[in-house]
Parts: sequence; C-alpha cells; structure tokens
Amino acid sequence: MGLKFDVTVVGAGPAGLTAAQQLASKGFKVLVIERGKKPGSKNVFGGRIYAHVLDKLYPEYVKEAPVERWVRRERITMMTEDSWTTLDFETTKVEHRSFTAYLTNFVEWLDKKAESAGAVVVSEVPVDKLIIKDGKVVGVRAGNDEIYSDVTIIAEGINRLVLERSGLAPKLSPELVALGVKEVIKLSREEINERFNLDDDEGMAWVLAGYPTHYLPGGAFIYTNKEAITLGIVLYLSYGYQLDIPINELIEEFRLHPMIKRIVKGGQLLEYSAHLTPVAGVNASPPSLYGDGYLVTGDAAGFLLHLGIIIRGVDFAMESGRLAAEAVVKAHDSGKYDKESLSIYGKLLEESFVLRELKTFRNAHKVLIEPRLYSDYVRMINTMLKRYFEVDGTPRKLGSTLLETKGNLTLLDLAKDAIRVVMNL
Ligand SMILES: Cc1cc2nc3c(=O)[nH]c(=O)nc-3n(C[C@H](O)[C@H](O)[C@H](O)COP(=O)(O)OP(=O)(O)OC[C@H]3O[C@@H](n4cnc5c(N)ncnc54)[C@H](O)[C@@H]3O)c2cc1C
Repeated sequence: MGLKFDVTVVGAGPAGLTAAQQLASKGFKVLVIERGKKPGSKNVFGGRIYAHVLDKLYPEYVKEAPVERWVRRERITMMTEDSWTTLDFETTKVEHRSFTAYLTNFVEWLDKKAESAGAVVVSEVPVDKLIIKDGKVVGVRAGNDEIYSDVTIIAEGINRLVLERSGLAPKLSPELVALGVKEVIKLSREEINERFNLDDDEGMAWVLAGYPTHYLPGGAFIYTNKEAITLGIVLYLSYGYQLDIPINELIEEFRLHPMIKRIVKGGQLLEYSAHLTPVAGVNASPPSLYGDGYLVTGDAAGFLLHLGIIIRGVDFAMESGRLAAEAVVKAHDSGKYDKESLSIYGKLLEESFVLRELKTFRNAHKVLIEPRLYSDYVRMINTMLKRYFEVDGTPRKLGSTLLETKGNLTLLDLAKDAIRVVMNL
C-alpha cells in the first residue's frame, strides 16, 4: 500500500494549482505532483493573462500577482516581406482587464498560494499512469511509487500522456494542436516605452500573420513586459510539413524582418522555449471530462480558446481548476466520488464561461486553419493598400483596386470567407 491523500493533482500549472489551493483551503489533504524541476519551470505561454478569474480567486491580485504590464494597446498586423498593415487599438484607460506576465513567475505565485493553503507540492516526479481498479481511478503510479486518493485531478497540460496511457483519451491528431516557439528579448524599460509608445506599467499585445509563418496557418505574437519583450510564433502542426525551414529559423527570420528589427534593436536574447498548444478548443477534449474517481482540467481537457487574435488558456485553466475543486467538495458531501457524483463538474462547466465560450467558438478552428487567410488575404490587403496609396495619375477607387489585387481569390471566396469569419469568430 502506498501513500494516501484525499485528492491527488497531476501537474502544477494554473489548472492544477488552482484546484489544489481551493481544496486545501477547505481542509482536504491534497498532493500535487509536478514533473518539472519546480512549479512553473515547464510552463510556456505567450504572455498575457485575462484577469477576470482572479477577481473571484484572489481579490488582492492587483497588488500581489507578478504583473509585468497592464495591456493598454492591442495590435493586429498583416505582414509580407516588404509591407505590413496594422490595426492599432488604444484606450486611455488601463482597466486591469489583462496583464502581461512570465508564466513561470505567475505559476510560482499560484504555487505559494496552494502551499500556504496546506497543499503538498512535490516536484521532479513524473506521473506514469493512473491506477485503475474495477473501472475506478484510485490513484497514480510514479516510478515505483503508488499514491492513492479518493479523487485524481488531471491537470497535465496539452501533453496528456497520463490520460492517453491510462486509456482515457486518444492521441491528439495534428490538426488539433499547434507548436509554439518563444523568445524573451531584454530591452530597457525606456526602450520599450519609447518603441511601443507606452508609459511605465502599460503594455501592448500584438499578433501578426502572414510572413512570420511563411504564410502558413498560424501567426506571431509580441508582448511587452517591464524590461523585456516576448516574441513568438505559433504554427498549426498539420501544416508543419509544408514549412521550408526549421521552426527555430522561422523565429529568427521574423526577428530580422525590417519592421521587427527596429523594435528588437540592441536587445539581448534571454530565453528560448517551445511547447505545443491546443488550437481546437473542445474539439480536442477527451471523451469524458470526469469519471469514476477523476476529473480533467485545463489544457488536458482542451480548454483553450484560440481565435487567431486572442489566445486564452490560463483563465480557462484556472476556472476549470476552481470548478473541479467545487465538484470534489460537492461529491464529498454526497459521500461518493463515482462518475455520477462527479458529474456535477460537467454541469458547473456548462454554466460557467468555460464551456459557454468554448462551445460558442467550437467551429473557430475550422475557419482559422484555412490557409487563404494567412497567404492570399495578407498579400491582397498589402498590395491593395500599396496600389491605392500610389499616386501616378491613374484613377483608382478602392473597389477596382480590390478587384485588381485579389489574385487567385474569386468574389465567391471573398464572400464565403467573410461570412465564415463573421459567423464563427
Ligand atoms: C506559445 C504559447 C503561447 C500562449 N499564449 C498564451 C497567452 O498569451 N495567454 C493565455 O492565457 N494562454 C496562452 N497559452 C496557453 C497557456 O499557456 C495554457 O493554456 C495554460 O498554461 C494551461 O494551463 P494548464 O495548467 O492546463 O497546463 P500547463 O500550464 O501546461 O501545466 C501542466 C503542468 O503539468 C506538468 N505535467 C505534465 N505531465 C506530467 C506528468 N506526467 N507528471 C507530473 N506533472 C506533469 C507540466 O510539467 C506542467 O507544469 C499559450 C501557449 C503556448 C504554447
């Protein structure tokens, strides 16, 4: 017989640590098992956290959380080798809706919250698989160790090997995931403020499409931190084979693009990381989000909203962790942790923004995986504006310039794609 806890959590990311903190603060004996050197060491993300979930969980977060900058500017750029078109949104109000952060620091902060509530967090222990007896998950196996618990919360992220090895989820197919690579580049606070036209503590979130991925489905992002910027590329895995260079060279080319070169000038590369990310939301969920003795949360459950210009995973991970904890408390009150008692988790998810939003955008990935969006349209917009702004004595109306520059796109393509984008994103 191995160790026994009330709840075992697999993975110390935003989902697992939120579930652990919530349960430990209610007196449950909670063990969190993390395979990384410490919580946060394996987590990768672009750089922005939507703060609405923190209002409920940690009302003091504005003072306490490791916030880099509060996002005041948002930019979307369609970029070719030699031209680019940008939509630039600014507001004078920084309303504490989202902030840039290092996920490592943020997860460390969540870890402190979970540990000070009484959760036990062990690192450098990879869980191999779940222990299943008579169809019920009764614990986890890690090497020679067996840890038993009433409930296991699976928060292992997108690399959901524990679920797969335990027969609770199939292997993720490539069209459901993307590969993200990210660099952190050090610049002084003044350089960032000047280059992005920001004041201290104000941030920018920027997504770019077209040239950064060699016109394949995916995109690039730039986020401003206090004294560094994060810059990265996300490429749909199912298009990886069409890429003519390795993805690490792609990010280098992006950095050397004439527009980006100016922004990163004099910067020092501090860090490089790569990670998979789900892009298909609930289409990538395992067949069941709960069962006898277990619940699935965060990326492992497919809870990531990817709308091309918005990537949200951390708030979904934390909310699903919180709801998993609530479900465990309710199941505890009923005295059972079987599938029926834990089905309250499904109900709570349905009532929360997690499934409401993810289901609303269920078809977004089918629209976003369309290669035309990243190639033909990016080129068309840039060529069209270039022609329109060129004055050479030829009269040019916007409509005729559009027809001149639409390349292989038919008017039917334009109409169909416009409808698909408006209806699904
Ligand atoms: C390039 C990129 C950019 C992104 N940008 C954003 C963004 O700007 N904003 C946003 O909100 N989201 C973003 N995301 C998504 C966000 O990072 C995830 O949605 C979020 O981290 C999910 O949290 P999680 O707790 O479910 O999983 P994770 O953060 O992946 O944590 C899972 C943890 O489980 C551990 N683990 C895995 N397997 C085992 C095992 N067998 N045993 C023990 N431990 C294990 C891992 O080491 C890890 O610490 C981005 C993702 C990528 C890849």
